[in-house]
Amino acid sequence: MEVKICPFCSEEIKVSAIKCKHCGSDLLKERIETDKVYFQDDQVLISLTRFKAFNNTYAMKDITSVSLELDVPAPIIPFIIFIFAIFQAIFDFGFIEDWLTGYRYLDSCIIFIVGFFFLNFYKTKYFVSILNNSGQVKTITSENKEYIDKIVNSLNQAIIDRG
Ligand SMILES: [Zn+2]
Repeated sequence: MEVKICPFCSEEIKVSAIKCKHCGSDLLKERIETDKVYFQDDQVLISLTRFKAFNNTYAMKDITSVSLELDVPAPIIPFIIFIFAIFQAIFDFGFIEDWLTGYRYLDSCIIFIVGFFFLNFYKTKYFVSILNNSGQVKTITSENKEYIDKIVNSLNQAIIDRG
Protein backbone atom coordinates (compact mmCIF):
# COMPACT_ATOMS: atom_id res chain seq x y z
CA MET A 1 0.00 0.00 0.00
CA GLU A 2 1.46 3.33 -1.10
CA VAL A 3 1.50 5.95 1.62
CA LYS A 4 2.12 9.68 1.86
CA ILE A 5 2.28 12.24 4.62
CA CYS A 6 -0.80 14.27 5.45
CA PRO A 7 0.11 17.94 4.78
CA PHE A 8 -2.01 19.04 7.76
CA CYS A 9 -1.01 16.69 10.60
CA SER A 10 2.10 14.92 9.18
CA GLU A 11 0.68 11.45 9.88
CA GLU A 12 1.04 8.61 7.37
CA ILE A 13 -2.02 8.11 5.14
CA LYS A 14 -2.89 6.19 1.96
CA VAL A 15 -2.03 7.93 -1.32
CA SER A 16 -5.60 7.49 -2.52
CA ALA A 17 -7.17 8.95 0.66
CA ILE A 18 -9.54 11.87 0.15
CA LYS A 19 -9.91 12.51 3.88
CA CYS A 20 -7.21 12.14 6.56
CA LYS A 21 -8.06 9.40 9.09
CA HIS A 22 -6.01 11.16 11.76
CA CYS A 23 -7.09 14.80 11.60
CA GLY A 24 -10.10 14.63 9.26
CA SER A 25 -8.70 17.16 6.78
CA ASP A 26 -10.13 17.25 3.25
CA LEU A 27 -7.41 15.94 0.94
CA LEU A 28 -9.40 15.92 -2.30
CA LYS A 29 -8.90 19.66 -2.75
CA GLU A 30 -5.23 19.22 -1.91
CA ARG A 31 -4.93 16.44 -4.50
CA ILE A 32 -6.46 18.55 -7.27
CA GLU A 33 -4.19 21.47 -6.45
CA THR A 34 -1.09 19.27 -6.59
CA ASP A 35 -0.13 18.80 -10.21
CA LYS A 36 0.81 15.15 -10.62
CA VAL A 37 4.05 14.57 -12.55
CA TYR A 38 4.25 11.54 -14.86
CA PHE A 39 7.63 12.07 -16.45
CA GLN A 40 10.46 14.51 -15.95
CA ASP A 41 13.99 14.97 -17.24
CA ASP A 42 16.17 17.90 -18.36
CA GLN A 43 14.07 18.64 -21.43
CA VAL A 44 10.67 17.11 -20.82
CA LEU A 45 7.95 17.48 -18.21
CA ILE A 46 4.64 15.63 -18.32
CA SER A 47 2.09 16.45 -15.66
CA LEU A 48 -1.67 16.28 -15.33
CA THR A 49 -1.95 19.82 -16.73
CA ARG A 50 1.14 20.45 -18.84
CA PHE A 51 3.40 18.87 -21.40
CA LYS A 52 6.68 20.73 -21.67
CA ALA A 53 8.93 19.62 -24.54
CA PHE A 54 12.16 21.60 -24.78
CA ASN A 55 11.03 25.23 -25.17
CA ASN A 56 7.40 24.51 -25.97
CA THR A 57 4.65 23.96 -23.45
CA TYR A 58 1.28 22.46 -24.33
CA ALA A 59 -1.80 22.35 -22.16
CA MET A 60 -2.82 18.75 -21.49
CA LYS A 61 -6.50 19.68 -21.86
CA ASP A 62 -5.86 20.63 -25.53
CA ILE A 63 -4.17 17.34 -26.41
CA THR A 64 -6.60 14.91 -28.04
CA SER A 65 -4.24 12.09 -28.87
CA VAL A 66 -0.61 11.02 -28.73
CA SER A 67 1.27 8.67 -31.03
CA LEU A 68 4.72 7.39 -31.79
CA GLU A 69 5.84 8.10 -35.34
CA LEU A 70 8.99 7.03 -37.09
CA ASP A 71 11.11 8.24 -39.93
CA VAL A 72 13.08 5.49 -41.68
CA PRO A 73 15.68 7.06 -44.01
CA ALA A 74 16.52 5.43 -47.35
CA PRO A 75 20.24 4.51 -47.30
CA ILE A 76 20.97 5.55 -50.90
CA ILE A 77 24.72 6.18 -50.55
CA PRO A 78 25.46 2.83 -48.82
CA PHE A 79 23.30 1.12 -51.44
CA ILE A 80 25.41 2.61 -54.27
CA ILE A 81 28.61 1.61 -52.44
CA PHE A 82 27.33 -1.98 -52.04
CA ILE A 83 26.58 -2.12 -55.78
CA PHE A 84 30.18 -1.00 -56.42
CA ALA A 85 31.47 -3.66 -54.03
CA ILE A 86 29.49 -6.38 -55.84
CA PHE A 87 30.82 -5.24 -59.23
CA GLN A 88 34.34 -5.15 -57.81
CA ALA A 89 33.89 -8.70 -56.45
CA ILE A 90 32.68 -9.91 -59.89
CA PHE A 91 35.70 -8.20 -61.47
CA ASP A 92 38.03 -9.78 -58.86
CA PHE A 93 36.53 -13.19 -59.62
CA GLY A 94 38.09 -12.92 -63.12
CA PHE A 95 41.63 -13.02 -61.66
CA ILE A 96 41.76 -16.77 -61.09
CA GLU A 97 45.48 -16.82 -61.83
CA ASP A 98 46.20 -14.12 -59.23
CA TRP A 99 49.19 -15.35 -57.19
CA LEU A 100 47.60 -13.82 -54.10
CA THR A 101 44.30 -15.65 -54.51
CA GLY A 102 43.54 -15.29 -50.80
CA TYR A 103 43.53 -11.53 -51.16
CA ARG A 104 41.62 -11.46 -54.39
CA TYR A 105 38.51 -10.01 -52.81
CA LEU A 106 40.31 -7.65 -50.43
CA ASP A 107 39.37 -4.47 -52.33
CA SER A 108 35.72 -5.44 -52.64
CA CYS A 109 35.69 -6.28 -48.92
CA ILE A 110 37.07 -2.82 -48.13
CA ILE A 111 34.36 -1.22 -50.28
CA PHE A 112 31.72 -3.27 -48.40
CA ILE A 113 33.12 -2.05 -45.06
CA VAL A 114 32.95 1.56 -46.32
CA GLY A 115 29.31 0.92 -47.23
CA PHE A 116 28.57 -0.36 -43.72
CA PHE A 117 30.32 2.69 -42.26
CA PHE A 118 27.99 4.99 -44.21
CA LEU A 119 25.00 2.89 -43.14
CA ASN A 120 25.59 4.17 -39.59
CA PHE A 121 24.42 7.62 -40.64
CA TYR A 122 20.99 6.30 -41.61
CA LYS A 123 19.29 5.74 -38.30
CA THR A 124 15.57 5.51 -37.70
CA LYS A 125 14.24 8.54 -35.88
CA TYR A 126 11.29 8.36 -33.51
CA PHE A 127 8.87 11.19 -32.79
CA VAL A 128 6.29 11.96 -30.16
CA SER A 129 3.40 13.25 -32.21
CA ILE A 130 0.50 15.00 -30.52
CA LEU A 131 -2.84 16.15 -31.86
CA ASN A 132 -4.02 19.42 -30.33
CA ASN A 133 -6.00 22.49 -31.40
CA SER A 134 -3.25 23.54 -33.81
CA GLY A 135 -3.20 20.12 -35.51
CA GLN A 136 -0.63 17.36 -35.58
CA VAL A 137 2.60 18.47 -33.89
CA LYS A 138 5.88 16.56 -33.84
CA THR A 139 7.32 17.36 -30.43
CA ILE A 140 10.25 15.24 -29.28
CA THR A 141 12.66 13.45 -31.61
CA SER A 142 15.11 10.75 -30.64
CA GLU A 143 16.91 7.71 -32.02
CA ASN A 144 16.12 6.02 -28.72
CA LYS A 145 12.79 4.22 -29.17
CA GLU A 146 12.59 3.27 -25.49
CA TYR A 147 12.78 6.94 -24.49
CA ILE A 148 10.05 7.95 -26.94
CA ASP A 149 7.90 4.99 -25.84
CA LYS A 150 8.21 6.11 -22.23
CA ILE A 151 7.08 9.64 -23.10
CA VAL A 152 4.15 8.41 -25.20
CA ASN A 153 3.03 6.10 -22.36
CA SER A 154 3.33 8.88 -19.77
CA LEU A 155 1.30 11.24 -21.98
CA ASN A 156 -1.37 8.61 -22.51
CA GLN A 157 -1.56 7.97 -18.77
CA ALA A 158 -1.91 11.72 -18.14
CA ILE A 159 -4.71 11.92 -20.74
CA ILE A 160 -6.53 8.97 -19.14
CA ASP A 161 -6.21 10.45 -15.63
CA ARG A 162 -7.27 13.89 -16.84
CA GLY A 163 -10.48 12.25 -18.09
ZN1 LIG B 1 -4.09 14.58 8.83
